[in-house]
Amino acid sequence: MFKTRVTELFGIDYPIVQGGLMWIARAELVSAVANAGGIGFLTALTHPTPEGLAAEIRKTREMTDKPFGVNITFLPTLLPVNYDVYIDACIAEGVRFIETAGRNPEPYMEKIKKAGMIVTHKCTSVRHSIKAEKIGCDAVSIDGFEAAGHPGEDDVTSLILIPLTRDALSVPVIASGGFGDGRGLVAALALGADGMNMGTRFVATREAPLHMNVKEALVRAGERDTRLVMRTLRNTERVLVNSVVQKVLEIEAKGGTKIEDIAPYMSGKRGLRMLEDGDTEAAVMSAGQIVGMIRDIPTVKELIDRIISEAREIMTSRFGAVLGARITTQAPGPK
Ligand code: NAD
Repeated sequence: MFKTRVTELFGIDYPIVQGGLMWIARAELVSAVANAGGIGFLTALTHPTPEGLAAEIRKTREMTDKPFGVNITFLPTLLPVNYDVYIDACIAEGVRFIETAGRNPEPYMEKIKKAGMIVTHKCTSVRHSIKAEKIGCDAVSIDGFEAAGHPGEDDVTSLILIPLTRDALSVPVIASGGFGDGRGLVAALALGADGMNMGTRFVATREAPLHMNVKEALVRAGERDTRLVMRTLRNTERVLVNSVVQKVLEIEAKGGTKIEDIAPYMSGKRGLRMLEDGDTEAAVMSAGQIVGMIRDIPTVKELIDRIISEAREIMTSRFGAVLGARITTQAPGPK
């Protein structure tokens, strides 16, 4: 067991969060994270209808009796989304934990809080995290520039963003962007966070429901193999480089890009086909700079157990040795 404000807030053993992953954060992955002692969030928009989300929530409950939540992302979409009906489905299903992302969740906060749900808002800047706390969010997940998906437009890395967010807030802070092992967990705690969020690292696990080819592409990738697309639309997304991404970047480089120009390449539906078929040159896929540190495809339990034992080893043996070494190098005191 680890004890932080994040483990207390969610009632979990370890301060490890699997945030929303479009198409991937389904019952198989979320229940595996829960059963291994962390907390996972199903992505609401993976399901074309709120009934589909409700069925996924029930399926997850059959696979775990541990806490889990639902992610609702308010980023721009190619087709309009009625967020209220997804939130209503969460309320009807008795979901306790909601992760919001992409835009200020204020329009939905009254409804969410009235239902007694605990809200973690994913932010990419200190100013947005201050706002999230002000409108009643119970925790903030802060995304550094290293992060997969939508790391915002400010390009501030986790090393700076986490301590600044910690200093600015009273609610628990979850470090996100660049995390994938025990060293990252210890670093997150040292920087003032109460836990860490992992996205890309969880994609390369046995339980994540996607084609093995895509997982193997993550293992092969180095830390320089991500690109930022949709910068020109101020909806930046960090993705794994491939020929489709190069095409999108070529279009953006011409200037005056409109979403219509790149929508056929960026479409989530196309991304879903790639995850199912395993053709890694067929679409774009979110990935963080942590890909450079992903070297295997373990089960979720193996991954979480490894992270926790590595974190323990660092905090006890390695830090202990550093402190011990310091003591022995101090000048001997008077007898
Ligand atoms: P989609 O097929 O509707 O859109 C594909 C991409 O184009 C998305 O990144 C979307 O944000 C972007 N987009 C759509 N309309 C846009 C517009 N008018 N201006 C600028 N960008 C626009 O999306 P999807 O793949 O079905 O995903 C559904 C939602 O989940 C989207 O909002 C997407 O951004 C979000 N998502 C979030 C993450 C994350 O890291 N939080 C990862 C994947 C997807």
